[in-house]
Formats: sequence, structure tokens, C-alpha cells
Amino acid sequence: MFPSTFDYKRAETVSEAIRLLNEHGEDAKLLAGGHSLLPAMKLRMNRPTMLIDISKAGLTGISDLGDKIQIGACTTHAELETDKIIQHNLPMMAKAASKIGDPQVRNRGTIGGSLAHADPAADWPGVVLALGATIHVAGPDGERAIAADDFFISIFTTALKEGEIITAIDIPKMKQKASAAYVKFEQPASRYAIVGCAVNAEMNGPMCADIRIAFNGVSGAAFRDTALEEKLKGQKLDEESVNAACKEAAEGRHIMSDHFASDTYRKHLAGVIAERAIHEVL
Ligand SMILES: Cc1cc2nc3c(=O)[nH]c(=O)nc-3n(C[C@H](O)[C@H](O)[C@H](O)COP(=O)(O)OP(=O)(O)OC[C@H]3O[C@@H](n4cnc5c(N)ncnc54)[C@H](O)[C@@H]3O)c2cc1C
Repeated sequence: MFPSTFDYKRAETVSEAIRLLNEHGEDAKLLAGGHSLLPAMKLRMNRPTMLIDISKAGLTGISDLGDKIQIGACTTHAELETDKIIQHNLPMMAKAASKIGDPQVRNRGTIGGSLAHADPAADWPGVVLALGATIHVAGPDGERAIAADDFFISIFTTALKEGEIITAIDIPKMKQKASAAYVKFEQPASRYAIVGCAVNAEMNGPMCADIRIAFNGVSGAAFRDTALEEKLKGQKLDEESVNAACKEAAEGRHIMSDHFASDTYRKHLAGVIAERAIHEVL
């Protein structure tokens, strides 16, 4: 499998990448880690004539900004897995990163590429929704910040406008009594999520003060299950209450059906995986 012919340019800065992207229009594609784009090009699902490499455009790195952690868009999954700031402040992210693909995928693939690609089975979309992330983008009309809640629109579709680049992702630090977990039922060869559930809960003793629950792999786009959150908020979380609530996980959602899992099985899995993630948090 070979991609169709394409040209290649490496951008040294974000503004150069934006200029090139707009110069070449819809024939151009950004290249970060290439671990979603290149397979799609080899299958001829994507035929860009110009690839703009942003891997050296100054978009890597993880910084502690006090109340939040800022992650450059081209930070790899492997860097997120091993970075001390992430391990200390957002251990759930380090653990989620360790579950992505294999070492080659983790060493090349980036968080920004994963969010922009918005594969329904990708892990980061669910994780950033549960953690309440903000996604920073830059484009021909300047910079803007998009709440993760507003970012994932539908399958492979995000709130990014033509010519925009994700530059960084801000993740608020965990509140004092909060804890987070990400659990997935994975396709054993690729490790893509058949169902993934990320939970971020603030507890007051056994009582749930606040909770964010997000799914990936279940529907065309990752989503927060606000109905499930409402069932658990203000409640005492024990085996019984969590089990009862999770039976209605992903209720009312359009559930995907494919050769890995039917919609009925996926819906069942959503409840089971959510229950496991909540218990991990507790
Ligand atoms: C064998 C295999 C197994 C995998 N397993 C998993 C898994 O278990 N879990 C998982 O979540 N993922 C998995 N992946 C996907 C992997 O994580 C990809 O690396 C990731 O989804 C895309 O990141 P990338 O940097 O490689 O993006 P690229 O492939 O370079 O780009 C993907 C898309 O995003 C656009 N893009 C890239 N960066 C930006 C940016 N900063 N701003 C705007 N647009 C941008 C590109 O133009 C392209 O359209 C797997 C991939 C492979 C090949």
C-alpha cells in the first residue's frame, strides 16, 4: 500500500505552518506523528498533495502553570507517559498514554494529532473531556480557546476551522479531593478502544461532590454522559448505587456497531467499563 504522490514542507514555527496551510488550501494536510494520517493516505482515504510537518514547529513540551498543566500539541504519547509533571499532577493521563498502541505509536503519535483526527476509538478525546481541558488553536484569524466539551462534533469532525492548528492543551490540576481514572476495553491488536471511559470525581467522604464521565469508542464522537453524571452527583457511591446508575450508561446515545462489537454489546460494555472506572477512582 503506497500513498499517492505528495510534496513535503517542514514548518519551523506555527505562523509558518499557518501560512503554508493557507497557501496550499484544501490540498494540504498537517503532519504531526503521522500515525493516523499516513495509514489513511496508504489506504487512499486521504490524498493530500502537500504535507506540512509541524513536529519541529515548537509545539512540544509540558509546563506547570500553577493551576493547570499546559501540553504542547506535538507532545508524544510516550512523553506524556513518562513526564514527571504529568505523573505527579495527572497520573491518569500517564496511565492512559501507556495504553495507547505500541512503543512505535507512542513514540511518534501526538496528543494534538489524536484530538484533531477525532477517531471515535481514540483514547485522548474521552480523557480530555473528563479532565475539563481547554484546547488552544491558532489560525488565519488569530488564536482562540475551545472547551473540550465543544470540540468533538461527530466522527472525525471537530470544531477546528479551515486552516487552524491545535497549539496546546490546558488541563486543570485535580482538585484536592478529586481523583481520575481511564479504563478501556481494547481491540487487542491495535489497542484502540472498543469502549473507553474516563472518570474524574471529587469526593466528600463516601459522597460524590462532583463527577465528569466521558466515553470514547461508543459513539461517532467522544461525549460526556451528563445523564449518568447527574445520577451519581450528590449520592453516596457504593457498589449498589454505582452498579444501578451504570446500567443506564450511554442511554439515549447513538451507539456504534461494527465488526468488533454490535451496538447492544457496546452499550452493555459502556456500563461495565464505566463501573470499573468509577471503582478505580474510589
Ligand atoms: C497500529 C496503531 C495503533 C494505534 N493505537 C491507538 C490506541 O490504542 N489509542 C489511540 O488513541 N490511538 C491509537 N493510534 C493512533 C495514534 O495515537 C495516532 O498517533 C494519533 O491518533 C494521531 O496523532 P499523530 O500525531 O500521529 O497525527 P497525524 O497522523 O500526523 O495527524 C492526524 C490528523 O490530525 C491532523 N493534525 C495533526 N496535528 C495537528 C494539530 N496540531 N492541529 C491540527 N491538526 C493536526 C493531521 O493533519 C491529520 O489530519 C494507533 C495508531 C496505529 C498506527
